Amino acid sequence: MGEIQLVDAHCHLDELERRGMPASEAIAAAADSGVLQMVTSGDSPAENQRARELAEAYPGVFFTPGWHPSNGRAPSSAEWREIRDLLGHPRAVALGEVGLDYHRWDGAAIWDPREQRNLLRSMLELAAEVGKPVVIHQRDAGGDLLGVLDSSPKVPTMLHCFSGGAEFAQAAISRGLHCSFAGNLTFGSAAQLREAASVVPPELLLLETDSPFLAPHPLRGRVCHPALVRLTASWLANHLGVGLDTVAERSSSTARAFFQLPPP
Ligand SMILES: [Zn+2]
Repeated sequence: MGEIQLVDAHCHLDELERRGMPASEAIAAAADSGVLQMVTSGDSPAENQRARELAEAYPGVFFTPGWHPSNGRAPSSAEWREIRDLLGHPRAVALGEVGLDYHRWDGAAIWDPREQRNLLRSMLELAAEVGKPVVIHQRDAGGDLLGVLDSSPKVPTMLHCFSGGAEFAQAAISRGLHCSFAGNLTFGSAAQLREAASVVPPELLLLETDSPFLAPHPLRGRVCHPALVRLTASWLANHLGVGLDTVAERSSSTARAFFQLPPP
């Protein structure tokens, strides 16, 4: 078996730093596992700037400036301009994460779904205007998400940390949406996700860690970092009955094509 090369299609290196793992350490550990490229995503203005700095500092790191629905409001016009400016950066490979989150933590109120949808529509228009793909966060909002995507300009779209079953995966791939699976794919309870992963063709399937969240089995509950995308890839290879090198080759070339990454 040749050298394994993997791409972590979605992580949060800044959040990992806040959990005590310096980016330099995470990137070195990733290289040891064959993870030579990673896309770190911003959720807020401070995170977007840190993601940019890391992408400038490390050749294997690319970034996406975004605005997470958990901010609970739309960006101000200055914040909007900043995201637009960052999208012009040569290391910015997509807009995101942006999206819809209707999940209620402990019954807490969520941000008005209509405002969330309006912002997402504007973000999709921005992505179309600057010609960059979009990285989408979606939680408990799959139907509304498809509705917004269907009525907005078409841009290459990746559903990060895919959640849902085979039916939603089918709806996504029939629209040409890319589906990126995180470490929760390997959890014993994830029967639905496994069915979804079986449905998505290799040219639309990516793998991510969503570091520092969702460390794959058998490290579930630990701090996740980009090297661990290899565990998810091994798990998927087993599930599909193919070699790790096949899954690595397919998912990395899909990620490189989607984000237009140079060869590692
Ligand atoms: Zn994320």
